[in-house]
Amino acid sequence: MKKTMNTQKHIALIAHDNKKDELVSWCIKNKATLGGHFLCGTGTTARLVAEATGLPVKAYKSGPLGGDQQVGALIADGKIDMLIFFSDPLEAQPHDPDIKALVRISTVYDIPMANNRATADFLISSGYMFAPYEHDVIDSEENAENRASEMKNDIIK
Ligand code: PGA
Repeated sequence: MKKTMNTQKHIALIAHDNKKDELVSWCIKNKATLGGHFLCGTGTTARLVAEATGLPVKAYKSGPLGGDQQVGALIADGKIDMLIFFSDPLEAQPHDPDIKALVRISTVYDIPMANNRATADFLISSGYMFAPYEHDVIDSEENAENRASEMKNDIIK
């Protein structure tokens, strides 16, 4: 189904511990642009970004305590348009399954997602940052209905 992101985007910010400095400095650099959108993030990241930039950032739980899953659920509900997720590729994370799930669900719902600074720079300088963007997104209701009607004949009563 067609889904249109509004001009003002809902952007989720997440950084692993070794990447928090980098994300905070990226947010300071891009404060003017980020200030035109709705920001949220995992607990620690959201607080650090809010403090450093003065921008409002809605904080969910800390990533290892379920924050990544909360952000993933919001993506599945169509409530987040973009993910800036500075992940640490050099250190094992205790919540690795949650991180994989978040990346996966962002892919399912065609969410623009930056996993490093260069990608984030390209995203933030896109003309779509301040324009509506229409994309084709899987219709989860229709998908479940179709699957149920296909499978019901195979169910042994
Ligand atoms: P944090 O979570 O912002 O609470 O540190 C980020 C993460 O590690 O997923």
